[in-house]
Amino acid sequence: RAKDDGRRTYRFFEAEMDVHQQSRRALEIDLRQALVTGEFELFYQPIVGLSSGRVVGLEALLRWCHPERGLLSPVEFVPMCEETGLIVPLGDWVLRTACCEVARMSDDISVAVNLSPVQFKAPGIVSSVMQALSQARLDPGRLELEITESVLLLESEDTLAALHRLRDLGVRISMDDFGTGYSSLSYLRRFPFDRIKIDRSFIADLETKDDCRAIIRAVASLGSDLGIDTTAEGVETESQLKTLRAEGLTEVQGYLFSPPVPRDEIVEVLAKAKAAVSAA
Ligand code: C2E
Ligand code: MG
Ligand code: MG
Ligand code: MG
Repeated sequence: RAKDDGRRTYRFFEAEMDVHQQSRRALEIDLRQALVTGEFELFYQPIVGLSSGRVVGLEALLRWCHPERGLLSPVEFVPMCEETGLIVPLGDWVLRTACCEVARMSDDISVAVNLSPVQFKAPGIVSSVMQALSQARLDPGRLELEITESVLLLESEDTLAALHRLRDLGVRISMDDFGTGYSSLSYLRRFPFDRIKIDRSFIADLETKDDCRAIIRAVASLGSDLGIDTTAEGVETESQLKTLRAEGLTEVQGYLFSPPVPRDEIVEVLAKAKAAVSAA
């Protein structure tokens, strides 16, 4: 009897695996198709300078307009793209699209693009960035690349060399989600970042946990000593903004100013921000 039960459990597990693998396979096929049929889109979220009160840049955030499932967030499909390597051509598309779209915006605004560690494992990241810039005729100083410490976790000389070559082009490099990994501080020694983006979990807990404020204060002071810009992600309330300003961060980003919006709406967001600044 025990043996039968065991076998039944095993069969059940096997069936579950099947369903799981089938849905992953379906997602993979959908993703490959989506790149061909143009179902991806970039949304943009403004980044506001605290001293000027102006929108200094936009972060490009990938969306998948799935024909049946609607608008999908990158957390739902980027991991699969990374596992299958599809992130390489997709990331290339993101770079080209972000550079072209921002070059067409009237203001001399900059754009931040998120890169996956997988794009650094594959050859050609530097030429991919160079091509995107030249195709769009975008000044390299207007492109910022956001990487997480998982890129430096690759511990590869090639990766470091690629980062330095990108920086030599005049592109800025920022460390995203600062504080969520294991040794964020040691990575600041491995590469001269232009910007630190403090993960939004620290901003979310700002009012309830004293240590968050202390950490943010320390990062702001570290940034100012090292000449690195410091941006807070996920700013949602006026009171968070007030604290972040007091602690001396250089930029803020979050729903308080605007959620990520489609390209066609960014003009309105920029106009509104300008009006708000001149009214203040
Ligand atoms: P991230 O780079 O840290 O981007 C910030 C995320 O926080 C975005 O989520 C944004 O919509 C969200 N956010 C912004 N302001 C607020 C706020 O005030 N409150 C809250 N709760 N959330 C806020 P999103 O767009 O879903 O992107 C998630 C992650 O997916 C990104 O995190 C980034 O790591 C990745 N990602 C996005 N676009 C790309 C891309 O083109 N390539 C790659 N490789 N990864 C991407
Ligand atoms: Mg980012
Ligand atoms: Mg982030
Ligand atoms: Mg994040």
